[in-house]
Amino acid sequence: SDEFYKRTLARLQKIQTHLETAPRARRLKDKVCIVTGAGSLKGIGRASAVLFAHEGARHLYLLDFDATNLPDLKSTIETKYPDVKVTIQQGDAADDATIESLCKQAMQEEGRLDVFFANAGIATIDGLQEISADQFMRSMRINALSCFLAVKHASVAMEKTNPSRDKEFGGGSIILTASVAGLRSGGGSVDYSASKAAVNNLAQTSAYQLRNTDIRVNSICPGLIETDMTARTFEYAASRGTMSKIGQLSAMGRYGVAEEIANMALFLASDESSYVNGQNYAVCGGLSSSHPVAP
Ligand code: NAD
Repeated sequence: SDEFYKRTLARLQKIQTHLETAPRARRLKDKVCIVTGAGSLKGIGRASAVLFAHEGARHLYLLDFDATNLPDLKSTIETKYPDVKVTIQQGDAADDATIESLCKQAMQEEGRLDVFFANAGIATIDGLQEISADQFMRSMRINALSCFLAVKHASVAMEKTNPSRDKEFGGGSIILTASVAGLRSGGGSVDYSASKAAVNNLAQTSAYQLRNTDIRVNSICPGLIETDMTARTFEYAASRGTMSKIGQLSAMGRYGVAEEIANMALFLASDESSYVNGQNYAVCGGLSSSHPVAP
């Protein structure tokens, strides 16, 4: 019911603000990290950047096509965590030269690259027969090609990082944001779902191709997460009083917040996931394993 739904909001707020009081465990101490798609105010990229800073990352390189909010994110992080360096850049995560030079910049400035979180993406909500060839290719480019470029260029940099990392465990971690829509048939439009399925396979195949290195590649498959991307859908549902139905698509009866995806990104970025490789992780409150009836 909506009553149940309202009660979950308080819990979500707690999850969103827990860093205000959480001790800094520094699980990313000394790590140099790139995060793409970090620019939106309620997005997974921004929440991850803040969490990575909280956990003591040495230097964060944050990229977004829309750079409007990046200066504020940089000063928010640097004010709260003076030991963390933040470099922001406006750019296209699906542009070969941009991603290559970002990885090279990290190597030049820090001599290492430990984490690449390829999170930039777009969503579409069109019926199969309305999708143009251009739209299909745009989804493939922004969602899937961006992840390929991340794996390609980050792995080159991470291999060069190896000598200094020899004494450590965990190695380099490349994290791709896919979606539960890329795991199985779902409500998303086919261009989006196909691009995210490509991302999931990319994580598996790249992990295998990079075998015998200490570079791990995994993908995260978020379920329904309240971010700028889903804001329109959520507003529409709220105006019709069907928010609880959206929540009930997952076994937990609620949608998730960006911080809950950031926590999985943190685990995969940290050395605690040292034996986790080539996997597709659903973080969806049980959505991917239930059989929802569309609201
Ligand atoms: P968001 O819209 O809040 O954030 C995505 C960010 O990516 C935006 O800041 C956008 O400007 C940026 N971006 C888009 N194209 C780009 C490009 N070519 N180069 C650089 N930056 C670009 O959405 P979000 O929900 O935080 O999405 C993050 C990732 O999570 C996406 O890959 C999305 O597909 C995935 N995802 C989200 C949900 C959800 O329910 N929100 C579910 C499954 C997967």
